[in-house]
Amino acid sequence: MSAPTSEAQAHRSWRQIPRRKSRQIKVGNVLVGGDAPISVQSMTNTLTSDAQATLAQIRGMEEAGADLIRVSCPDEDSTSALKEIVRGAKVPIIADIHFHYKRGIEAAQAGAACLRINPGNIGSNDRVREVVQAAKDHGCAMRIGVNAGSLESELLEKYGEPCPEAMVESAMRHAKILEDHDFTNFKISVKASDVFLAVASYKALAAACDYPLHIGITEAGGLRAGTVKSSIGLGMLLSEGIGDTMRVSLSAEPAEEVRVGFDILKTLGLRSRGVTIISCPTCARQNYDVIKTVEALEKRLAHITTPMTLSVIGCVVNGPGEAMMTDIGFTGGGKGTHQVYLDGQAAHRLHSEDIVEHLAGLVEKKVAKIIEEKDKTENAAE
Ligand code: SF4
Repeated sequence: MSAPTSEAQAHRSWRQIPRRKSRQIKVGNVLVGGDAPISVQSMTNTLTSDAQATLAQIRGMEEAGADLIRVSCPDEDSTSALKEIVRGAKVPIIADIHFHYKRGIEAAQAGAACLRINPGNIGSNDRVREVVQAAKDHGCAMRIGVNAGSLESELLEKYGEPCPEAMVESAMRHAKILEDHDFTNFKISVKASDVFLAVASYKALAAACDYPLHIGITEAGGLRAGTVKSSIGLGMLLSEGIGDTMRVSLSAEPAEEVRVGFDILKTLGLRSRGVTIISCPTCARQNYDVIKTVEALEKRLAHITTPMTLSVIGCVVNGPGEAMMTDIGFTGGGKGTHQVYLDGQAAHRLHSEDIVEHLAGLVEKKVAKIIEEKDKTENAAE
């Protein structure tokens, strides 16, 4: 019996998550909503006016797999640099506009694929009309971004505190403004740093409209705590089929947000990308240094985008069992003799010290074969 592939594992019925039916919009060449894959996005933290530094950071985020990248446009220097940034980036760029409607118009003209802007915050109806017109003229989408920390004062007065009802009312107010301008090419977020508030708000919003939802737990914290918080909050939503695009907000290097985003989606079988390593927590039975090996493998295999599972287990207690369920398996054995499994079958022993290079070589060989077979199938279909 051969091991189920990563793809096959993801399609077992008890793993499937029915997705909320949302309308689909286009952010540049990325589809968001409907049956489109849940996209992963992040945001630069360089000065947008420094196009070169921003593009260098964008490169790192693209390599980590970002589907969409957002940049802040707080001033005219930023929207001036946006043209170069849009031209140099491989993925669609979203311009984050706070209040100033002119920045929104400039960003749309500069080629932003989406504006993160709340129409209710930009002033008169004429200003809204101008921004919407610029978005229409340049094929630009929008995101309404409601945040528990910046709810309208009258909603806070009405509800007493940020709550799901206030968040949804705010979102629907902004949505109505865009609808009144005959613009529906937008997605919505209702973020909060409190997981329960965010989850309840998104659930209420998901029930109230069919717009695609950008999900996130805002200001989640540093790398470790923020990853845990985001995984719980986004996991609760995603496991109920809610969420069409997502950002993990971390006080950490932006590419980390992308990696964590993919790890969350991979855990739920919603997307697959690169090598998923299954490894044991280690104990006195381990027959090689599992932790160091896994750390080295994660770095060594970061360039692989083809989905694949690799189990790296310290001893025979769980090694053979995990190897049955992974594409490539490795189990530590006594006296420095380890066992390698391919497609669930014991393949060969490994005496060599260089476990990392050996396993990386097997992964790369398997990836090359998968790509070759895919190319053959595609060529045959043409
Ligand atoms: Fe310990 Fe073996 Fe379990 Fe790893 S698989 S934690 S080495 S018993």
